[in-house]
Amino acid sequence: MGIVVENVSKQFGSFQAVDRVNLEVKSGTLVALLGPSGSGKSTLLRLIAGLEKPDSGRIWITGKDATHTSVQERQIGFVFQHYALFKHMTVRQNIAFGLEIRKLPKSQIEARVQELLELIQLNSLGNRYPSQLSGGQRQRVALARALAVQPQVLLLDEPFGALDAKVRKDLRAWLRRLHDEVHVTTVFVTHDQEEAMEVADEIVITNKGKIEQVGTPAEIYDNPATPFVMSFIGPVN
Ligand code: ADP
Ligand code: MG
Repeated sequence: MGIVVENVSKQFGSFQAVDRVNLEVKSGTLVALLGPSGSGKSTLLRLIAGLEKPDSGRIWITGKDATHTSVQERQIGFVFQHYALFKHMTVRQNIAFGLEIRKLPKSQIEARVQELLELIQLNSLGNRYPSQLSGGQRQRVALARALAVQPQVLLLDEPFGALDAKVRKDLRAWLRRLHDEVHVTTVFVTHDQEEAMEVADEIVITNKGKIEQVGTPAEIYDNPATPFVMSFIGPVN
């Protein structure tokens, strides 16, 4: 069922940030929104999340019309570029937060947190505070926190964007492995071609609020559909 975006537009003042976009993210897949800065990637993600209201069009999440529903009703996990872990809470407490506010039984919360610590391979760091972690480790905790409540959809907006090249490379491979285990429908925003190629099942190329091409990494690389895609994908250096 996944996500269906149907003819969605969003304008800020006279600027058309998202222009009649149609998009399908199949259930359990990881799709990358790839495009230059200002091409509407974050706006599209925020529309899917319910953080922005579309001017027109519809958004379907797991078969239900979510266009007029709240962020909470959409059951979405969100990770942004700038991690927002609670500084005064340990890793365990950060991951448990969403479960605590849902008032789950303590034993159930502990078991789920343990499972997630293993999933993000930070088992031994559960009692640390965010300040005692590296940037890459913090983003893994942010991901675990987003996954804790078993969202229907995971939305990642340049989650590795603030990290250095080496760490980003490691995290790509790590995210791919994680997704192979969890299979949650994921939309991953990036402006980094290599990152999209390595991580995504399908890539959606955005330009000026529109979608230029949708395809697997190989399809896009082998057959760029427009001059824009050709120049944007370019030779990988
Ligand atoms: P991307 O994520 O691809 O860089 P965005 O979706 O963030 O693109 O933004 C597309 C354009 O929309 C940008 O030029 C930005 O200035 C504009 N924009 C985004 N959000 C707002 C907002 N809340 N108010 C006004 N303009 C916005
Ligand atoms: Mg953005």
